[in-house]
Amino acid sequence: MVSRIRIALDGPAGSGKSTVAKGVAQKLNYIYIDTGAMYRAVTLKALENHIPVDDPEKLTRMVQDTEIDLSYERKGDQSVLHVFLDGRDVSEAIRGLEVTANVSPVAAVAGVRQALVAMQRKMAEKGGVVMDGRDIGTVVLPQAELKVFLTASVAERGRRRWLELREKNIEVDLAEIIEQIEKRDYYDSHREVDPLRRAEDAVLVDTTDMTKEEVIDYIVKLALERGARIETGCSDT
Ligand code: C5P
Repeated sequence: MVSRIRIALDGPAGSGKSTVAKGVAQKLNYIYIDTGAMYRAVTLKALENHIPVDDPEKLTRMVQDTEIDLSYERKGDQSVLHVFLDGRDVSEAIRGLEVTANVSPVAAVAGVRQALVAMQRKMAEKGGVVMDGRDIGTVVLPQAELKVFLTASVAERGRRRWLELREKNIEVDLAEIIEQIEKRDYYDSHREVDPLRRAEDAVLVDTTDMTKEEVIDYIVKLALERGARIETGCSDT
């Protein structure tokens, strides 16, 4: 049994994927791969270069000439993710409202997905990864040893996003956030290419009434049952 397993974490916007994925990766000493950040980086580049988000050909050409790197900075016992777009740190810029409002149509473009899925598979080659997104269990890593699909009520997901933005001093209307989440949910689950959907063999976890620690502990328990071992710094790959 492999001890550095691949964990695929999918679910809709605001279901807690990134917080949970980070926590699980930290406990297992695995790498966390935020695939949403990659789609966001491509969207930022399109916006900056005035490439219309409804022009699949131009977007496909652009992504073929794009480099995205994820790197991790140790801050105490935390590992902070940095996203580089063509060598520039865009970690903050990709979280802006304009990128969030435009990312779904960009992520619906087949050529964009093809390029990013190839990068993501390469990143997961050696195992020991927690990857979160919309299509990880179904398309990117169909052979992942553990697949989890996180959900939560739309009201709770809206509340979480709203709190997150407020912490960054971004004032937004809760109703507006909920509307944006509903729109993204619809778009992400109804697109033709790799829509958001639960893999048949994914464990469904409704996080509406769970704390993030409870969710993290539960997924770590599932991972240990599937053969993961808590690494203590020395890799066995
Ligand atoms: O996870 P996050 O909310 O940052 O993702 C931003 C957007 O990127 C999603 O709304 C979705 O349109 C797209 N995405 C995707 N496939 C993934 C990850 C994200 O289509 N694997």
